[in-house]
Amino acid sequence: MKLLEDKIRKDGVVKEGGVLKVDSFLNHQMDIPLFDEMGKEWKRLFADAPVNKILTIEASGIGVACIAARHFGVPVVFAKKARSVNIDGEVYSTKIESFTHRRVYDVIVSRKFLGPEDHVLIIDDFLANGKALEGLIQIVESAGAVLEGIGIAIEKGFQPGGELIRGKGVRVESLAVIESMDVESGVKFRRQPGHS
Ligand code: 5GP
Repeated sequence: MKLLEDKIRKDGVVKEGGVLKVDSFLNHQMDIPLFDEMGKEWKRLFADAPVNKILTIEASGIGVACIAARHFGVPVVFAKKARSVNIDGEVYSTKIESFTHRRVYDVIVSRKFLGPEDHVLIIDDFLANGKALEGLIQIVESAGAVLEGIGIAIEKGFQPGGELIRGKGVRVESLAVIESMDVESGVKFRRQPGHS
């Protein structure tokens, strides 16, 4: 998505260690007109999918998932990072290793908000090693729900997550795919036919 690529070129900051900072428009301060265009683009790409729920993970997926949800006309459920998992059967739970914080979280979703009747679109801000998505996919599977696909804002194509998740047969639509990036030369994007 050219609009997002241009924004990343202009306001994204490449850090050492393969980290892209986008906190001025994506995951701290949030550019809502941009989110709205992103939501519109995911809706166009998943027009044929009978999505009735969007699933994301706190904290940084929530903003973009909420704006996307207006285009789909569906509710958003976000997976919560829990300090301790209560094992009385009220929640689906999984463990997710965080790329940015280098620790493992227990992540939960209440059984009240996800079940076999649901057709789920997962939305998240980044795809790097795919750990966050693997956890969310596991939660969708535990619920017996149908995973219609995954919408990602920024995929770091030089990390293995995209291949890993697509290798499971899941449809992943990333609005910007970074082919390579470094502190000196900045960010290079992968062309995606059929994307705006
Ligand atoms: P994964 O689980 O795919 O390795 O990483 C996904 C999560 O890590 C995302 O939800 C995002 O919060 C965070 N993340 C991964 N790479 C980056 C990055 O380069 N910049 C920022 N800001 N967050 C990232």
